[in-house]
Amino acid sequence: MKTNFHFRCFGCDTQEAHATAPYLCRRCGEPLSIESVATVPSAVLRSPPRSLWHYWELLPVTIPNRMVSLGEGATPLLESPRLARQLGFSRLYIKNEATNPTGSFKDRQIAVGMARALELGAHTVAVVSSGNVACAASAYAARAGLRAILLMHGHAASAKATQAAAYGARCFRVCSPAASAVFDLCIRACREHGWYHLSTAGMYEPFNVEGAKTIAYEIYQQTDGNLPDWVVAPVGGGGLLGGIWRGFLDLKRMGLIETLPRLAGIQAAGCAPLVDAIQNNRSFLETLQTPWQNPKTIAGGIADDILFDGHTVLPAIRTTGGAAFAVADDEIREAQTVLARNEGLLCEPSSAAAFAALKRLSDIERGLSVCVVLTGSGIKDLDALRDQVPPAIAIDGTLEALTAALER
Ligand SMILES: [Zn+2]
Repeated sequence: MKTNFHFRCFGCDTQEAHATAPYLCRRCGEPLSIESVATVPSAVLRSPPRSLWHYWELLPVTIPNRMVSLGEGATPLLESPRLARQLGFSRLYIKNEATNPTGSFKDRQIAVGMARALELGAHTVAVVSSGNVACAASAYAARAGLRAILLMHGHAASAKATQAAAYGARCFRVCSPAASAVFDLCIRACREHGWYHLSTAGMYEPFNVEGAKTIAYEIYQQTDGNLPDWVVAPVGGGGLLGGIWRGFLDLKRMGLIETLPRLAGIQAAGCAPLVDAIQNNRSFLETLQTPWQNPKTIAGGIADDILFDGHTVLPAIRTTGGAAFAVADDEIREAQTVLARNEGLLCEPSSAAAFAALKRLSDIERGLSVCVVLTGSGIKDLDALRDQVPPAIAIDGTLEALTAALER
């Protein structure tokens, strides 16, 4: 069957028409990425999307009727003039991925990964997750009529485990702080039982991270092609920012843009292998030799000890003149509160990390236009917030009691 994509190695800039698992470059050994070769009719990028499948021709699906959808993608791009003024930016856009069906951008990736699983005739999908992928995989498996097995690692928020279980998946909590160790277990189990490995880690399964590209297409459309100077996103494994980069590369390939925005990847100081790799100019394969020891942060969604998509997120930052920053947990908490109280947007700590880093960009240059990706909803992890907000004040049901309490 004719496909609309081939495989690309960004390590040595070669391409392959075909590849099979484990999807490694025969020349340099880096993981291969999927690269679209399709050109879409101009109407596609002029008419507003109703879901991510608006862009199906640019996604690696060969059988369109295998698309599984809960209405993922087509998320709002909000402007925040007040925060822009405070930070010294000319414009600040917020790409609000919390409006996805299960509350995070992972729905985009899982929707495309699930289409791939169905093409291959899978009956069961399995994922490693800190929470958001588990929720997405469980929901999309339910929608597709497949069984889902979830291996959640030590940093998973308990509320996310509950949400994921509610969609009917079999959930396991693996007692290991290192995501990479849980991946080893999942890959072995998939081989043993014939499950499709649906984790969003491009170094193992390049199809499962493709959905993130559509964020770049939407930003292009929502800004009428006037792309921001910078796009800022949190980085765990790196599949989000690596995907956004490849989405912009698609737009360039189709002649729709000339230059890409500069890309910034944000991590928590307690788990920052990307920042370490950029500062020490490490190659992707070198980063695999030095996993982050003992990840420790409130931002569990980005506490990956290795860069599972380092083969795309490193060139994303290096080739766009981008940057990588680490922020402390205190800064993450503060950013989460500021965003909720100033903009009415309650995000999860991983997303707040990206907002916390905006000050670093305004230190570099004033007057920038910036887009930050709010990756997931804070409603998914209210336990983490309980100590940060005042409790409701108990009063009698009288106007006098309310008035007195207001004055206290
Ligand atoms: Zn290569």
